[in-house]
Formats: sequence, structure tokens, C-alpha cells
Amino acid sequence: QGLVEKLDKVVRQYPDFPQKGILFRDVHPIMSDPAIRKELQDYYATQYQAQDIDVVVGLDSRGYYFGVPLADRLNVPFVPIRKGGKLPGATYKIEYAKEYGKDSLEIQIEAIKPGQRVVVLDDLLATGGTIGGACQLLEKVGAVIVACEFVIELVDLDGKKQIPQGVKYNSLLKY
Ligand code: IMP
Repeated sequence: QGLVEKLDKVVRQYPDFPQKGILFRDVHPIMSDPAIRKELQDYYATQYQAQDIDVVVGLDSRGYYFGVPLADRLNVPFVPIRKGGKLPGATYKIEYAKEYGKDSLEIQIEAIKPGQRVVVLDDLLATGGTIGGACQLLEKVGAVIVACEFVIELVDLDGKKQIPQGVKYNSLLKY
């Protein structure tokens, strides 16, 4: 059985969470299962170990679950992109539209140097508002976005169109 099938078996769906009409896909069972969690970490490490990644970026907050272990494996910095108002010091901030509501994202300006090659991870790609905003912040700091990685993609919402032209993206589970 391959990794995608194993992930598909453990990811649970919750109707009407956090709002009526939303079918929420929950990645937490991946975190609860050491064998699947490790297999996913191994997969990401294999994908990115030869890509000259300088920094791994994770999106608030479930992107951290996958981003920090990858940064460990690659022995590079991990940098969070957080919801607005959480990071101290000099930051760039942008507002973006979400599947349910509006939000803001922020990055510490000095966390990434211009020209550094980054991979961005999040648990799920829905409308693409979040990753689109994250990519704008990364462009502001001058990062080179090598790829955007998602465990899950909600294909019908077509979020990939929010990823900048020419930036690779990958998702394992497509619903
Ligand atoms: P988007 O901005 O519409 O692409 O939504 C993606 C963001 O919202 C990601 O950071 C996800 O963590 C979160 N999200 C949206 N829908 C779901 C879901 O069904 N399960 C888990 N997270 C979700």
C-alpha cells in the first residue's frame, strides 16, 4: 500500500465544520500515527533533499507540523508565516480572502534573505487565498519559491490558480 492510500485512510472528514456547508478534512490523525507521519516526512525529505532548499516555510498553523520536520531533515532554517498580529519586530503583512472569511498573514522581514530558495508547506489547499497571500509575502522578502506542498487539495475550488505562474505545486490527496 502506497503513502497516498495510507493517508487517505486516516484523514477524516467532518461535515459543517467550522461552519455549515463546509466539509472539513482533518490531518491530525496523520500526526497521531507515528508510522504514517514518518513515511510522510521521509517522502518530503526525498522530494527536496537535492533541490538546494535554503529555508523551509510553514503556514499557520498546520503547515508547521510538516515544515519543521522537513527543515530538520534538510538541516536548514524553518520560517513560519503567521496569522497577523502574532510576530514581533519588523514584518510584512498582507490581507487575503479565505474559504470562510478574511484574514491576514505576516512574516518577519529578516527571516529570509533575498535570493534564498524556499519550499512552502501547508496541510490543505482550498480556494488558494492563503497560499496566494503567502507567496506575495515571500516575493516581498525576495525569496525564490521552489515549490508549494500540500497534503490535501480540494480540487474543485481550483486554489492552484492563486499560486504564482511558474511556481511548482504538489498535493498528495486530491478530493
Ligand atoms: P484557502 O486559503 O481557501 O486555500 O484555505 C486553506 C487554508 O485554510 C489552509 O491553511 C488550511 O489549513 C485551512 N483549511 C481550509 N479548509 C480546510 C479543511 O477542510 N481542512 C483543514 N484545513 C482547511
